[in-house]
Amino acid sequence: MHNVVIIGSGCAGLTAAIYAARANLKPLVIDGYEPGGQLTLTTMVENYPGFPDGILGPELIEHMRKQAQRFGAEFRAGAVTAVDFSNRPFHVTVAKENFLAKTVIVAAGASARMLGLESERKLIGHGVSTCATCDGFFFRGKEIAVVGGGDTAMEEAIFLTRFASRVHLIHRRREFRATKIMLDRARANEKIHFITPAVVEEISDVDKNSVEIVLLRDTESGKVSELPVEGVFVAIGHEPNTNVFRSVLEMDENGYLSTRNGSKTNIQGVFAAGDVQDYRYRQAVTAAGSGCMAAMDAEKFLEATGH
Ligand code: NDP
Repeated sequence: MHNVVIIGSGCAGLTAAIYAARANLKPLVIDGYEPGGQLTLTTMVENYPGFPDGILGPELIEHMRKQAQRFGAEFRAGAVTAVDFSNRPFHVTVAKENFLAKTVIVAAGASARMLGLESERKLIGHGVSTCATCDGFFFRGKEIAVVGGGDTAMEEAIFLTRFASRVHLIHRRREFRATKIMLDRARANEKIHFITPAVVEEISDVDKNSVEIVLLRDTESGKVSELPVEGVFVAIGHEPNTNVFRSVLEMDENGYLSTRNGSKTNIQGVFAAGDVQDYRYRQAVTAAGSGCMAAMDAEKFLEATGH
């Protein structure tokens, strides 16, 4: 029987683990499909407070993990395949293993949707990014591309004009999913150049480990062209990792968990933290903050229920 089972080992899960471990609750952390979460897919992180020279995303995560271990947090590899929150103790299943928990903190994160190209995967953190707030600063005076036609793509394109000399917005259709106000704002920005209808066929140069050219295909004429850019921001949406909680935990129409009064979900004793319940800020520091909140809420719950 565990006091706290934490589902997810990104910034939110690890911060929850540090707090729960320091409260002597000996938390168990289930790593998930992507141990370390989205920070492991980045290179330099310059906006996490406390690191004046920046820190590599994977290194930051490794520090957090060691910090949690130092106070007694335990880790299990694997992803949660089923949960039963109908009664306490709760059941959390990882393949064939079943864990009993007095409280659960869901910090399963969200995954950025990707285009699915091999070159995109290889160049992530080396010119390909899914977060303008995190990486825009690295592209001062450079020409870059943003892919997507929703509000996120507009917002990121507009934000990136603060740094980039030119932003090419590439979208697969002539019509946009973005709201009119965001689209109008992007269209009014002289630095943003719209390319539609077009899809990214390839990003090069993988051999040089940097972005130099994207290969575009016009979806109407079939014509293929080259666009020289030094960065590609993929802004085609995010998917919260909540399939396993469907019909168990309350979520919005996009699958993000609903929290109230801090980190509480609709089930007493189950808490949620990080990107799994936050589609708005999605920052390492906000995820960490909400992980701290969830651990404190779990601790208070255990105290109140006499465990
Ligand atoms: P959306 O799902 O709204 O848009 C995703 C975009 O990416 C669509 O234009 C879609 O094209 C395109 N796309 C999806 N998959 C691919 C692919 N494989 N290849 C190429 N293009 C692809 O996601 P967002 O992240 O933009 O927005 C999510 C939610 O958050 C929305 O409700 C939005 O309004 C909200 N939001 C609000 C903001 C604000 O108000 N300031 C800021 C950011 C987000 P297609 O249209 O052809 O399907």
